[in-house]
Amino acid sequence: MNLKSDADLVERYGSPLYVYDLDRAVAARDDLLASLPEGTIVYFSFKANPHPGIAEALRRGADSSCKAEISSAGELVAALTAGFDPLDILYTGPGKTSEEVEAAVEAGVRVFSVESVGDLRRVGHAALSQGATASCLLRVNSSGPGATTSIRMTGTPSQFGFDSETLPDLMPELRSVPGTRLSGMHLFSLSNAKDEDSLIAELTHTITAAAKVRDSTGLVPELLDLGGGFASPYLTPGKRPLYGGLRAALEEILDSHFPSWRQGSPRIAAESGRYLVGDCGRLLCTVTNVKESRGIRFVILDAGINVLGGMSGLGRLLPVSVALDGDENGRGSAVANLVGPLCTPGDILGRNVAVPDLRPGDLVTIPNAGAYGMTASLVMFLGRPAPMEITLRRDEVISASRVICTRMQT
Ligand SMILES: *Cc1c(COP(=O)(O)O)cnc(C)c1O
Repeated sequence: MNLKSDADLVERYGSPLYVYDLDRAVAARDDLLASLPEGTIVYFSFKANPHPGIAEALRRGADSSCKAEISSAGELVAALTAGFDPLDILYTGPGKTSEEVEAAVEAGVRVFSVESVGDLRRVGHAALSQGATASCLLRVNSSGPGATTSIRMTGTPSQFGFDSETLPDLMPELRSVPGTRLSGMHLFSLSNAKDEDSLIAELTHTITAAAKVRDSTGLVPELLDLGGGFASPYLTPGKRPLYGGLRAALEEILDSHFPSWRQGSPRIAAESGRYLVGDCGRLLCTVTNVKESRGIRFVILDAGINVLGGMSGLGRLLPVSVALDGDENGRGSAVANLVGPLCTPGDILGRNVAVPDLRPGDLVTIPNAGAYGMTASLVMFLGRPAPMEITLRRDEVISASRVICTRMQT
């Protein structure tokens, strides 16, 4: 079906509406692969957007260079639905339960990132019960300062990973867990780096830290997962960065610390959620009301934190930006609080945001909403239906679906 405008799409599928452009996701994947060392595997972090149609687009045509990084039973189903070979799935997370690990092993998953001795034992137990051996990457929380980052994940006390300074003493125990073999390392030190220089600095630090862990533990990695940090604009206009200098910089540092990486020993991997899918999505929504209260203008949208997480659960409130669908000529501009329809003062998408002079019924677009949109939203809160999500290639609608939250008697 060919639908020409956003107004057509909303007329057909309703508002609010997530629109994902699959070609843009594929372009992001190809850009990322081209900016990483030759032969790098990119793991798509389903956390950013578990829509199977998007994941399938990322998988296809990548010759197994794009694999799946998942962390729950739901993401496992999404990855299998998207057609990922279970052997191309990396299962991560600090609190894996026996049940979910067993289900993953039963589905054929064999690669796990493990974060503690107990975690490794659970994975080993599940693997043994299926007569399998799980390949385990040790997630390492490296000590020492890194570069300036947006979300620091290592070097401090954390539920994530093994502290690098105490890992050597644990090695005999870790090496002897039945049903497992230690096949590599997983480091993930930041998300959303502020620019290419800090990304290079951080990943350089990660490679150096991995080499130190190899030297102190004797663990020679077959797979070295460097984590991520690839940035993308979020709910505001702007372009995804291109990392023109990253590949050469990382290849050089790998040459000095892991001289046989070019022969695939270790194989290099990286992870990304937001870079791969952030700019493929936009959220269309409708102004339901505009009002003034004590000198402040409130623009009330039919999409709030039930539809668009804004990562408010993480205590981070970003000013969301909206653009009017169609012609803004003749409209003035205004400053307003953008709020959703929920009965809580917490349903704020942005404070003091510059907006066009909006009126009830206006269709607006929130750009760059492909990552941490639906998946990070409070879908259950206040019982509104989840929005429709559609995938497009050029102007053609490929799929239309809606997540359904419903209570079932058991
Ligand atoms: C969240 C997460 C990612 C993805 O982060 P982005 O900022 O979306 O790229 C990758 N790896 C791990 C281990 C994560 O927890």
